[in-house]
Amino acid sequence: MSDLAPLIVVSGPSGVGKSTVVTEALRLDPSIWLSVSATTRSPRPGEVNGEHYFFLSQEEFDELVATGGLLEWAEYAGNRYGTPREAVAAHRMAGQPVLLEIEVQGARQVRSSVADATLVFLAPPTAEILEERLRNRGTEEEAVVAARLEVATAELAAAGEFDVVLVNAEVGQCAQALLDFAIRGIG
Ligand code: 5GP
Repeated sequence: MSDLAPLIVVSGPSGVGKSTVVTEALRLDPSIWLSVSATTRSPRPGEVNGEHYFFLSQEEFDELVATGGLLEWAEYAGNRYGTPREAVAAHRMAGQPVLLEIEVQGARQVRSSVADATLVFLAPPTAEILEERLRNRGTEEEAVVAARLEVATAELAAAGEFDVVLVNAEVGQCAQALLDFAIRGIG
């Protein structure tokens, strides 16, 4: 038995509602610490450096990769995203469950490097609903939406690699199922 607090990885295609489900899970269980990722993407309006992401230059990101500072990282729709390693370890050692909200390639890396991680895949009720959600976001240009749709289709195929697949039909229920499985081992 590991005496580290749980490491929970939440993944799934863009537009499935990962951040909404994660926000609700954190509200239901405030003991969970949400990892802040590093990214080379530019901030969207309202995003705060160090809170939503650490917004890095290409060079700064290269440096983190080279020094082994990232637990996992991946390129996604033209930008790089990664999980700072030390903060995850520190919170787990302090007894705080850690949650990563990341895309599928990163989840695979965690699967192979962290034996006791719990991998949760969020799936949309239907592929049509996913496309509708992606389009209705309204924060991205058409070309960006098209790129994300393509990635999302490939990501859906990865569901079988995860410990559990939860369908995000209703946010509260999905968040509760996530906690039941990943924290309490139910389901
Ligand atoms: P967005 O640009 O919409 O914030 O995020 C794009 C995608 O990158 C989402 O699927 C998000 O979950 C994922 N992502 C965010 N942080 C990380 C990270 O640290 N590592 C990986 N592999 N993916 C991440």
